[in-house]
Amino acid sequence: MQRTLSIVKPDGTAKNVIGDVIKRFESAGLKIIALKRIKLSKEEAKGFYIVHKARPFYDSLTDFMSEGPVVVMAIEGDDAIAKVRDLMGATNPKDAKPGTIRADLATDLERNTVHGSDSPESAAFEIPYFFSALEII
Ligand code: UDP
Ligand code: MG
Repeated sequence: MQRTLSIVKPDGTAKNVIGDVIKRFESAGLKIIALKRIKLSKEEAKGFYIVHKARPFYDSLTDFMSEGPVVVMAIEGDDAIAKVRDLMGATNPKDAKPGTIRADLATDLERNTVHGSDSPESAAFEIPYFFSALEII
């Protein structure tokens, strides 16, 4: 069993695809073990994406991630990190395989609808960024 953190990003909540994203995770046999809708401040978005602080897209990305509501969820299952990444598709929707979330629902490299932890180390930082132990069931 492995845990990962996923986010329906502000473009996704605006497009009303929260359910579509969750449906894909559940249909793949993954369990949503914590879930909430929140609006990140700029500082909270910067903290979440601190790993990208030196990248040229950091300021624009954190503006985007704090522009509207997001849905954050902790997900559990066998190989959950890779499964969620596979369901998401490539970072740039133009490179994402047909049938993936980003290919089907997104068009823009930055506004790419969904986040998923990229490693066990990332998941171990990202899940407690949003959820206390008592909120994960
Ligand atoms: N991003 C961007 N420009 C880039 C690369 C990434 O705006 O050139 C954004 C995009 O929203 C991406 C996020 O920054 O999802 C984090 O980038 P990462 O390389 O970690 O991609 P991911 O793990 O989300 O596929
Ligand atoms: Mg990443």
